[in-house]
Amino acid sequence: MTGSAEVTKFTDRLIEICGESHVLTGDAIEPRYRRDWLGLYESHPLCVVRPDSTRAVTAIMKACAATKTPVIPFGGNSGLTGATIADEAEGILLMSLERMNNVRTIDTDGQVMIAEAGCIIENLNKAADQAGLMFPLVFGAKGTAHIGGALATNAGGLNVIRYGNVRDLCMGLEVVTASGEVMDLLPALKKNNTGYDLINLMVGSEGTLGIITAASLKLVPRPEAYATAMVVVPDVSAALKLMNFLQARTAGRVEAFELFGQLMYDLCVKYLDHITAPFSYSPSLSVIVEIAAGSAEDARADADGKLALTEQLEEILTEAFETGIAQDAVVAYSEAQRRNLWTMREDTLDAMQRHGNWLLSDVSFQVSDLPGAIADLEAAFAAIAPGPFCIAFGHMGDGNLHSCARPYDADPKDHPEEAEAIKQALQNAVVKWRGSISAEHGIGTDKLEVMRELKDPVAYNMLKTIKAALDPDNLLNPGKLLM
Ligand SMILES: Cc1cc2nc3c(=O)[nH]c(=O)nc-3n(C[C@H](O)[C@H](O)[C@H](O)COP(=O)(O)OP(=O)(O)OC[C@H]3O[C@@H](n4cnc5c(N)ncnc54)[C@H](O)[C@@H]3O)c2cc1C
Repeated sequence: MTGSAEVTKFTDRLIEICGESHVLTGDAIEPRYRRDWLGLYESHPLCVVRPDSTRAVTAIMKACAATKTPVIPFGGNSGLTGATIADEAEGILLMSLERMNNVRTIDTDGQVMIAEAGCIIENLNKAADQAGLMFPLVFGAKGTAHIGGALATNAGGLNVIRYGNVRDLCMGLEVVTASGEVMDLLPALKKNNTGYDLINLMVGSEGTLGIITAASLKLVPRPEAYATAMVVVPDVSAALKLMNFLQARTAGRVEAFELFGQLMYDLCVKYLDHITAPFSYSPSLSVIVEIAAGSAEDARADADGKLALTEQLEEILTEAFETGIAQDAVVAYSEAQRRNLWTMREDTLDAMQRHGNWLLSDVSFQVSDLPGAIADLEAAFAAIAPGPFCIAFGHMGDGNLHSCARPYDADPKDHPEEAEAIKQALQNAVVKWRGSISAEHGIGTDKLEVMRELKDPVAYNMLKTIKAALDPDNLLNPGKLLM
């Protein structure tokens, strides 16, 4: 659109579709649509529109296709890679799916739930719970992130070790294409060998191939009880051995295994007033482990209220102490103590932000390569500059590290050379160990260059061919994911 008359005509059409109060322009665009979660980017959309149905999304996309207006699908805006940022020069429409927040159906026989894209993850956790089942996607931004955004970034989180990424929980999708057609792949078919897997193509596409409007989501039986502990380990190799030992002794019932380096522990204890420090000292390396009940017997409590499952965990940890793969542990004996450990994990980013800005990462390695990759990165970060850093933090069972660093304990923006050296060290480790530069947060705008540089060239070209075929006018989230 070139002239103001055209823009007015376009916004009038949007008002016809969504109503005046759901089409925002100029100063009416609220601040939450003008920034990213970390406050690193400013966003300048031409207009924000809030459809309440798939039909409205199709009508909007048709209007966008007719006027060649680019669109950014917008969920909870909790993404960490600048994937929802609108460039002022491009006249971009931000399409917020927040009003599409209904759970359409919960089928307890089929153990599947159909949810609209704007449903907040935590609300889906609750809805499944009320139906006596569990939707196992859980991560720090669960109170904000939408299922549409989580699917578009293939989010994972704390339980991936047992239930997989959201890709593994997605059984069907409803998607509106760049031209405004609805692709209905919602039936939750466990077997369906009819050509290319378009559901998996859409998952992780960061809003560049279609607008997800609804999804069929896998539900799982809700474990009757959990046993949770924070365990001090001597080093990363021991942590890996402990994880496999727990898996073996529980027949794969490890729900979470989260690596916690000393810096993260210290930041949580210092800044999170609402948590109680698990240990009276600061452990150099610990893990939060959680196992789930495998039977009703595991959930039985003794006269003191202690669960049989907690006893099981204690026994396993006692053996781990004897073999030297664990050194100390705090076991949760109540739901409040368990919550304390999880709040600490889920709010770590908050604690870090209270200290200041950090260089964050989201890289992954093959699980067995973690000790070597972490050692390489620790040596590389230490050589770059003094200042706090932590490599050993993240979802160990998934090989996913969220390292962080603050050269000279200052804002990384003030030390661009060191910041660049840290990014390079991460890339070097990823290349050396054949890992991934994005484990779960996606590419967005942050990792465009490195994606082009490091992705297998044949695969990169194939991604570009797919994008050009499905969105020939480059309307869907332009400038993200691919250059
Ligand atoms: C504190 C914190 C902890 C986190 N922990 C984890 C973690 O453990 N594991 C993990 O994987 N991630 C984690 N994340 C990041 C996570 O990827 C995002 O929070 C979430 O997946 C994005 O959902 P959203 O609704 O906020 O999407 P947004 O940020 O709004 O959008 C993200 C991307 O999805 C696209 N998109 C949004 N909605 C749609 C739609 N309906 N159709 C098509 N495209 C769409 C956007 O265009 C954008 O490209 C964390 C983030 C925070 C802030």
